[in-house]
Amino acid sequence: MAAGNSISSVFDFINQVKHLYPQTASDINTKQNSLDDIHRYVEKLHAYLVDLSSRAQSILSERSRVSVLLENEESRLAQLQSRERQSSSDDDDDDDDLQSEIQEAEESIRYLRDREEELSQSFDRTMDSYNETKARRDSLTHTAAQLESDLRAKRGKCGTIATKLSQDADILGNEVQAVKRQASALHSIASMRFGASASQAAGSRSSREQELLQYESDARTHAQLYQMLAGGDNSSSAQHRQAITQRLSGASNPLARNLYNKHAASVQIENDHYEGTAHYNPSTGSINLHAGADAQNPKGAGTTYFHEVGHMIDHKSGSGGWLSSDPQYGNALKADVESHISNTMAKNNCSRAEAFDIISDELTGTENHSISDMFGSMTNGQCQGDWGHSRNYWQNDSTAFQKESFAHMFEASIGSPEKLQRIQRYFPRAYSVFESLIRRG
Ligand SMILES: [Zn+2]
Repeated sequence: MAAGNSISSVFDFINQVKHLYPQTASDINTKQNSLDDIHRYVEKLHAYLVDLSSRAQSILSERSRVSVLLENEESRLAQLQSRERQSSSDDDDDDDDLQSEIQEAEESIRYLRDREEELSQSFDRTMDSYNETKARRDSLTHTAAQLESDLRAKRGKCGTIATKLSQDADILGNEVQAVKRQASALHSIASMRFGASASQAAGSRSSREQELLQYESDARTHAQLYQMLAGGDNSSSAQHRQAITQRLSGASNPLARNLYNKHAASVQIENDHYEGTAHYNPSTGSINLHAGADAQNPKGAGTTYFHEVGHMIDHKSGSGGWLSSDPQYGNALKADVESHISNTMAKNNCSRAEAFDIISDELTGTENHSISDMFGSMTNGQCQGDWGHSRNYWQNDSTAFQKESFAHMFEASIGSPEKLQRIQRYFPRAYSVFESLIRRG
């Protein structure tokens, strides 16, 4: 079958570039690092050249000053010597004065000649270092140019691979839809009692669907990884992108990652150097955050990004309203909070207020930032750890606790298995409703 063949060549390509990625990334990073080193060194050499050249200039001007002095002394000596030749020897005192003046001029000329010679040598030495340094700088500039063109070619290839991976992911996405249609056709045959073979075929279709989804997700993740190698800038935004792709390639809930991949292309960052509180703006559909800060986020790199994207997906994929506004989700969240409170009361044989204090202590620390915010949202801020929104925030929008919980669950579901485990422990019912919501999304 033609379609089967082309899918298997898509699988081969994805396997191949997945396998090549670590080597390619380390090769490009190593080359980029040595290129950066060379650039820094060339800059130092350049500063040294400027210094040497100004040193040579001042030696030259000092030498010409000495030359002028020397000429003056030489002409003074010539005058003194001609006076000496003309002089009569009747005045010994005058003669003595003249002799000492001649001696003085001769000494001064010797000194100035020595000085002139010294300066010439110093100039030559300075020019030698200048030429040596310049030759070294020129050869390094040449090496850098070669490295740069090599890197450009390699990055170009990565760009091509990224494009092909995105196209392949789309092909696989279509194939998933085709398989789903076939599966539902086979299911209806099976239900008409056409025998075990049809239902077996339907079963193998569904494992085929899993395989296709896995490859699609790999293709999308690696498309981003290769795209990053193709980009090559070193800005805070690039570090942020790297943090994001790292989380996407880490352990995730496949439902959340597939939903992210579906929406990834429509994520709009309005300002990635935003100094205020990061947020998703429902009226523009875009996000404001500080990429550099989020790359170093103490709650985990990329936490703000995936949280705000969670809000965006909640908003954009709900039909009409927000996906999280489903009352079943709200009820499950409240039930989970209530059951933790009553368990704590029973275990400690204490009042509700005391249980709030116990749980508040339990929810301190950055690792509990999401759960702390979620408990605060449902207890009017009376039961929370170190992190949370203000009471006003919860009171202004009666579904805010559902929206924030959705964003927290989404964020924890991508490349943050430890956080996810924690959320599932505190919110077992709500997380399973969350999964059914994002299956719809
Ligand atoms: Zn939020």
